[in-house]
Amino acid sequence: MIYNTLSDIDFKNKKVLLRVDYNVAVKDGKITDDSRILASLETIRELLAQQAKVILCSHFGRPKGKVDARFSLLPVAQRLAEILQKEVIFPSDSVGMEVQKLANELKEGQILLLENLRFYPEEESNDTLFSQKLAQLADVYVNDAFGAMHRAHASTAGVTQFFKEKAIGRLVEKEISFLGGLIQQPKKPFVVILGGAKVSDKIAVIENLMNYADAFLIGGGMAYTFLKAQNFTVGKSLVDDLKISQAKKILERAHIKGVKFLLPVDSYIAEKFEEGTTYRLAENDEDWKDNMGLDIGDQTVVQFGQLIKNAGSVFWNGPMGVFEFKEFQRGTFAIAKFLAESNATTIVGGGDSLAAIHQSGYADQITFLSTGGGASLEFLEGKELPGLAVLKKKKIMSEV
Ligand code: AMP
Repeated sequence: MIYNTLSDIDFKNKKVLLRVDYNVAVKDGKITDDSRILASLETIRELLAQQAKVILCSHFGRPKGKVDARFSLLPVAQRLAEILQKEVIFPSDSVGMEVQKLANELKEGQILLLENLRFYPEEESNDTLFSQKLAQLADVYVNDAFGAMHRAHASTAGVTQFFKEKAIGRLVEKEISFLGGLIQQPKKPFVVILGGAKVSDKIAVIENLMNYADAFLIGGGMAYTFLKAQNFTVGKSLVDDLKISQAKKILERAHIKGVKFLLPVDSYIAEKFEEGTTYRLAENDEDWKDNMGLDIGDQTVVQFGQLIKNAGSVFWNGPMGVFEFKEFQRGTFAIAKFLAESNATTIVGGGDSLAAIHQSGYADQITFLSTGGGASLEFLEGKELPGLAVLKKKKIMSEV
């Protein structure tokens, strides 16, 4: 392992600054999805068991460097206390004298959760002084916020220069083991399923995974850019015209390499992008006039399903249609079922894909749910995540 893990450090009686990803989904001040809190528990429990003093820190939403009550981590502190059945000390700040005093007075096995780091613009600008103030709170640093590791911020990058002892948490360890497995030795055939709206987010992933994958199954809004690149009629569907030439190149490369690249052969279409709208299966070019594709069709589901059934490993990011509207959930949920029934190692990543897989009811039958949206994509693009790079063990030069 090129990083220290929790197993490499003695945490007893030490103050640990633990960076977590508590960027949870909230509606009207209530947490609607606590999976990111649940994902942090393994590391927290392990540190508590070792009698560490745990100081949690995270960002939440985009308060743009200002204190904003809508982005307070208070609901998270309450939920965490409920889950752990333990007090979670929650100051109204993330650095400063009051917080320093609370950190100094912390006893073994106690937890302190700092207020939203992004109330300070210094967090996102990776400010050295702010990093130092955070570092002063603790003796050891652990990063378990995989979803934030593609950002070089004070709490993920700057802060690490002030710690001698630093490690990745158990969640990050799992993330890099599952995602890394896909680009080191994926069980074959390796099938990559991509969907969602933004083709621009996924092009680099396709480019890199083309070196490892045996098949790509493309659905969702992004499929129409590829279909248009092949001169298919796509009506008013979502198309990123700036990406058409790149889409063409990808299609050519897949052809040359013999990598299967499946696009929807049929689509459910509608005139309006709204819940409850009338929709139908497009049967001919004329049908597409004034219509947009909002879900993959039944034949596409069958074709995709055949490849998933025979896969050794599957990575999925991005829904197959506008699953938020019940009329267009069919394709996404059908793919979720195929994954659930498959014997392959199945990995699902990305905010919307996670929401979709939970909604489908098949989440517990997936091998690994990756908590990082942008971070998992950048990892699979082959980029070095800044939050991970800073935690690499230093090479020890052999004595001359
Ligand atoms: P992304 O963040 O790029 O993964 O996009 C996720 C979003 O893509 C979801 O909110 C879906 O509703 C949306 N989406 C999926 N399929 C389509 C489609 N055919 N047309 C427009 N939006 C879509």
